[in-house]
Amino acid sequence: MRRLLRLSIVSAAMLTANAYAATLIHAGKLIDATNNQVQSGMTIVIEGNQIISVESGFKKASDQDTIIDLRDATVMPGLMDMHVHISSQNNGQASYMERFTLNEADYALKGVMYAEKTLLAGFTTIRNLGDGYNETVALRNAINKGMIDGPRIYTAAKSIATTGGHADPTNGQSRRFEADPGPKQGVVNGVDEARKAVRQRYKDGADLIKITATGGVLSVAKSGQNPQFMQDEVEAIVATAKDYGMTVAVHAHGTEGMQRAIKAGVDSIEHGTYMDADTIKLMKKHGTYYVPTIMAGAWVAEKAKIDGFFPELVRPKAARIGPLIQETFARAYKAGVKIAFGTDSGVSAHGDNAEEFALMVEAGMPAIEAIRSATYHAAKLLKVDDQLGTIEKGKLADLIAVAGDPLADIKTMQDVIFVMKDGQIYKQ
Ligand SMILES: [Zn+2]
Repeated sequence: MRRLLRLSIVSAAMLTANAYAATLIHAGKLIDATNNQVQSGMTIVIEGNQIISVESGFKKASDQDTIIDLRDATVMPGLMDMHVHISSQNNGQASYMERFTLNEADYALKGVMYAEKTLLAGFTTIRNLGDGYNETVALRNAINKGMIDGPRIYTAAKSIATTGGHADPTNGQSRRFEADPGPKQGVVNGVDEARKAVRQRYKDGADLIKITATGGVLSVAKSGQNPQFMQDEVEAIVATAKDYGMTVAVHAHGTEGMQRAIKAGVDSIEHGTYMDADTIKLMKKHGTYYVPTIMAGAWVAEKAKIDGFFPELVRPKAARIGPLIQETFARAYKAGVKIAFGTDSGVSAHGDNAEEFALMVEAGMPAIEAIRSATYHAAKLLKVDDQLGTIEKGKLADLIAVAGDPLADIKTMQDVIFVMKDGQIYKQ
């Protein structure tokens, strides 16, 4: 509907003025995210889905142009969350039952609702790091076709684990339901299966690969940090992914699993809880991105205090691992590790993503750098920085605005007043 409307406006303008009608955004403050500077009194000129110029001062509009008045606001690139699970949301014990009670369609429909919430919170791009049934591939396609409103999705589809590892979908189940999931379901053992799982995801329409290189907090298994892939298995994953132009994101809490993955050449380490000085050195050497997900750590630590919220195997891991991530982030940032913003939303609630900014600032990162981790750096990690991540001539028109000054109060990031994605306005 919106797309049709926009096309008709454009063609009417072509007939009358032989030129495209432009949208002029008057920005009181502008964070273009190309550097750490903030500019005042700027105009962003948009035609179709593209930024065609960024000019100082509040430029006057011609008759067919539209002006969007954000003179009291701070405008910045659309936010990008590099770690989301858009088709589910944790609710403790009840969530563990869902795999016996829900079907693919249920998750797909949840995804529709959470995608809209995420977009309206200012996140115009997300990286989906794991689903159950490739439903996020269908969700991505429906959003790209304009059937439903949501962020640009880059999805790993179903994560890849090893038997009994974090993301083995049958962990903790009664023998009655026991299956022996393989590469298709995202469980691999050995190099051949590792290659097959990557190729399967390519066939399924995934954009990138996610592996769970160590234990995790929320899986029904004893260790939250043991290494779960052998060196040759991670290397096979990375080499195969490269053949298909896919990046590799790695869930990891323990150092051994992290180091194997970094040496194999993966693109990002997620959570990174027990990252020590040697691992930090290795990440800098290989240029590996760190996606901290401080929010998820804080959320599980809080819920672990509630009796019966988590299964008994999960509770002590949540209490122990959860509170450590913010301090790990502080050390990694100080040491100069490249950081891309990520929340693990789907653990915490979708739409609350921007709460991560305050946790990053609290840990010592300047607000402007936290914002650039969710724009400039996220686009680099996704390898879409030629189109997204900054406000510059030639980039896609993904823009948001918050009232007031987020550098003075980072919590204003939680109150997004304007959202434009691909030249279309979703919130104003
Ligand atoms: Zn996750």
